[in-house]
Amino acid sequence: MQTKILDTIENGIIITNQNLDIILWNRWLAIHTGIPSDKTPGNTLEDLFPRISFDLLKQKIRIALRMKSSTFTNARVLKFVIPIEQNKITKSIFKHMRQNVVITPLNEKEVSINIYDVSSLLEAQTIIDDQMKLLEKQAKTDSLTGCFNKNMFNELLTAEIKRSIRHNHIFSLIIFDIDNFKSVNDTYGHLKGDSVLKKLANLSRKNIRKSDMLARWGGEEFCILLPETPLNGAAILADNVRQKIASHDFGSTGLQQCSFGVAEYTLGTDENIIIANADKALYYAKNNGKNQVAIFKDETSVSWQP
Ligand code: GH3
Ligand code: MG
Ligand code: MG
Repeated sequence: MQTKILDTIENGIIITNQNLDIILWNRWLAIHTGIPSDKTPGNTLEDLFPRISFDLLKQKIRIALRMKSSTFTNARVLKFVIPIEQNKITKSIFKHMRQNVVITPLNEKEVSINIYDVSSLLEAQTIIDDQMKLLEKQAKTDSLTGCFNKNMFNELLTAEIKRSIRHNHIFSLIIFDIDNFKSVNDTYGHLKGDSVLKKLANLSRKNIRKSDMLARWGGEEFCILLPETPLNGAAILADNVRQKIASHDFGSTGLQQCSFGVAEYTLGTDENIIIANADKALYYAKNNGKNQVAIFKDETSVSWQP
């Protein structure tokens, strides 16, 4: 009679002992594992599932018996206790059913293991988590080039200024702009232009340090934030990126060149000042023949010479 009631319950119930001898295996488990209840007596869980480790389950059973109270295993910690492959029709993202498990002592030697299917719940949570991560990434990055976008760059710059003020550290900013890019679009079309932007961003990313932050500032303009870097160091890096771009084979769209403006942060000023200074240097580079690095130093822009 009592066993029959256990067969009506919509979760798994195993009655077992410390050695994992199966005393009862309810109908739910029989249906989900394909192992009928009358085949289980005389077997241990390890006999039925020789490839599964039951060490944690045994430990939990020992604790439950010793403490004379229930113990719990969470599907986030131990994915499952009994391996139940997910039905192909449900198209679950998990290969195996995720199980929360409650182990309750019935007497000195035996426990009831109650198994709850929490796959749908965890699946929904996983999908939401993934979506959140994607949204966060999209909010930070430029979809064409994968660089940080302008909003994110402004946040990074504000944070860098705060850090600089707190620790009295210097940093520099590079702004660079592709030379005569309009003619690439005009000659080869917008799609080829997009492809140049992507390649150029990847090339720049490869040639900066991990701690440097590359952002797409606007159409064909990029900037790089360089923590702990003085003006001269930033100019050296800018010129290296310039050379790498100028010597790169962009395929059918031909050679590409960029002009660079570099400025160092002046303690006590705000983000607009360093941007404006780097922009002034960039403007100077553009007007001085392009494909070069200019620095903003002592309130004026000059060409940088190695
Ligand atoms: P300069 O050397 O003075 O910078 O000349 P430029 O031609 O690069 O500058 P201009 O500002 O005249 O033109 C910028 C061009 O960049 C025009 C625009 O079509 C192109 N551009 C901006 N954003 C994108 C984009 O997302 N994709 C493509 N393909 N082109 C873009
Ligand atoms: Mg340009
Ligand atoms: Mg421009």
